[in-house]
Amino acid sequence: MEFTLEEMRSHLAALETRISNACKIAGRSRESVKLVWVSKFHPAEAVENAISLGATDFGENRVQEAELKFATPRTALDGSRVRCHVIGPVQSNKLKKAAIVADCIHSIASIEAVEKLEKVCAALPKTLDILFQINAGEEETKSGLDVHEAEAFLESLVTRGPSAFPHLRFRGLMTIGKNTGVAEDSRECFAFLRNLQQKFLAKGGVFANFDQLSMGMTGDLEVAIEEGSTMIRVGTALFGERDYSKPVNDPV
Ligand SMILES: *Cc1c(COP(=O)(O)O)cnc(C)c1O
Repeated sequence: MEFTLEEMRSHLAALETRISNACKIAGRSRESVKLVWVSKFHPAEAVENAISLGATDFGENRVQEAELKFATPRTALDGSRVRCHVIGPVQSNKLKKAAIVADCIHSIASIEAVEKLEKVCAALPKTLDILFQINAGEEETKSGLDVHEAEAFLESLVTRGPSAFPHLRFRGLMTIGKNTGVAEDSRECFAFLRNLQQKFLAKGGVFANFDQLSMGMTGDLEVAIEEGSTMIRVGTALFGERDYSKPVNDPV
């Protein structure tokens, strides 16, 4: 069952308390952490409710589902345009569709994907924000760049220089914490991500805008905020449990 608007309002209030407390502990401002509402497996009505509660940024795992809910531009309560973040792995043949629907793709993990995105964005034309996903938890089921190869990968982008990717903005790094049920277990990978992001931001050039860290979900957002997250991706705490037996993009 989907949450009612009132249920969502109280879940949002509880989440905001968690976020504010974590910001206080970390000595950070609430404004330094963007809340991305992960609406995957929830219907368009849930997105409407979220917008009426002030949501500006949504995360979707699958391109087709993102298109269903976010192809039509809409306006947030604050007057800004609602933004769609693609946060799941994107197959090569779906990169163009992803580039069209997304304001930001968090899950780029190969040079082939970077090159193809530059091409499709040049043709659209569009300038797209991208983040590189790092498999910092080093779990085999998770996608993303291997931690041992991430630095060499980023270094290879420095070598090419900014003129190689005029339609892409490299905005930062994304990771999924360890899936142990213990938030503290993810601290080390979040800290690893922050160190890598800071190192490349300092290089400037193609990494001049590399100021984002997408990390933290329902179970580990406090630790992520303490370790410097600028974008938390939260689904369950806002929308409730997902019903995986009912994909939103199935024809009805
Ligand atoms: C589903 C998903 C989330 C949201 O997870 P919750 O635990 O429901 O908050 C965040 N990030 C990614 C990449 C996801 O796939």
